[in-house]
Amino acid sequence: MDLNLTAAEKQFRDELRAWLESNVPKDWNEWREKPLEESFSYLRAWQRKLYEGGWAAVSWPKEYGGRSATLMEQSIFWEEMARVEAPPMANSLGLGLIGPTIIAYGTEEQKARFIPKILSAEEIWCQGFSEPNAGSDLASLQTEARLEGDHYIVNGQKVWTSYGWIGSWCELVVRTDPTVAKHKGLSVLLIDMKSPGVEVRPLRQMTGESEFNEIFFRDVRVPAKNILGKVNDGWNVAVSTLMYERGSYGARLHLLFKRNINRLIELSHTFHNNGLPAAKDALTRQKLAQCYAEIEIMRWNQLRAFSRITATGVPGPEGSIQKIFWSELNQRVQQIAQEMFGAYGQLLAGDKFAVDNGIWSYGYLRTRGNTIEAGTSEVQRNIIGHFVLGLPRSY
Ligand SMILES: Cc1cc2nc3c(=O)[nH]c(=O)nc-3n(C[C@H](O)[C@H](O)[C@H](O)COP(=O)(O)OP(=O)(O)OC[C@H]3O[C@@H](n4cnc5c(N)ncnc54)[C@H](O)[C@@H]3O)c2cc1C
Repeated sequence: MDLNLTAAEKQFRDELRAWLESNVPKDWNEWREKPLEESFSYLRAWQRKLYEGGWAAVSWPKEYGGRSATLMEQSIFWEEMARVEAPPMANSLGLGLIGPTIIAYGTEEQKARFIPKILSAEEIWCQGFSEPNAGSDLASLQTEARLEGDHYIVNGQKVWTSYGWIGSWCELVVRTDPTVAKHKGLSVLLIDMKSPGVEVRPLRQMTGESEFNEIFFRDVRVPAKNILGKVNDGWNVAVSTLMYERGSYGARLHLLFKRNINRLIELSHTFHNNGLPAAKDALTRQKLAQCYAEIEIMRWNQLRAFSRITATGVPGPEGSIQKIFWSELNQRVQQIAQEMFGAYGQLLAGDKFAVDNGIWSYGYLRTRGNTIEAGTSEVQRNIIGHFVLGLPRSY
């Protein structure tokens, strides 16, 4: 693994740095406290700017509006975005998971129709996989699509759909053949969320936000040409989306975590536990140092994964390893923050005594979901157990 930047990688970094210097907005911190819809329009405008500069999806092939960036360049991209504290992009599922799946499985017509609007954030995408009785065991899903002439008629319910409230389109996994084994009768449909019969209901989370939703489908007519991949091959298409989801987050999160731990170290000098600055408390020091080391491990693990993909062309088990690692580490970091701040850590944005205007109370609550979203820790361990260690399947 050679981590020295090549001349081309340096050029990529310098070009990006110069662009960010003159384009990154400086007022994101003020906007993040506004209601979800207002801050979302801000993020949409930011993604549009990145798109116009050619930076919205650097990993995508040039022919689809990306830069065909190498994995090292992608890593540079996320490091530079984090360095300048750039806001996130609005269409995160479209860019990170669904766009790449459309590029891999879509027809030319689908790519031409959907890809440009994913990049520009004109159309926001959501991922309709989980159902009330199908989460970890996704293949048990029951939402059905029946072919009638040149349309599918969709009936059923999805749940926990992030961005459902703002989504223009949804990558929906449906059952197209109930007579075969459960993995074999699934297909993926691209559904216009404005279609008659689609009803989106908010789900309120413990953070106070309604970031995700329930979606009900009642006799929704979807043109048959909106199938992604082959009929009854939806399991493979959906698994591709999940691989993108699990593999892609580590690179983006590493620097965010680093920023968080550096801030905690800074605050440990001013917050007092038992009459002493937290920095002088032996246990707090041990925990901060341990998390700092683990954040470094996360970076090396990500680079090892990148290096392996560059060498072999295929993602390895690192996706699951990273997913367990970052989600559980994030919870440990937030736990230390709560221990250090005591009751102040629980105050919300807007309270004058809240630490860093409530980002720690929000962070503590939001990170509970990290070990559930994109596949639970138990499921990731099952994947590693079976596919890496050769242990028997869990089910
Ligand atoms: C913040 C957040 C965002 C999300 N966004 C989306 C989204 O946009 N689209 C979408 O489709 N879904 C989304 N989800 C749903 C998510 O994918 C599911 O919650 C997840 O797959 C787990 O499914 P479940 O909630 O049904 O739990 P279950 O599958 O019922 O699991 C319950 C418990 O049993 C354990 N368990 C289950 N099976 C096994 C097994 N074989 N071995 C060992 N333990 C097992 C689990 O680890 C868990 O602890 C989101 C979830 C969260 C928290």
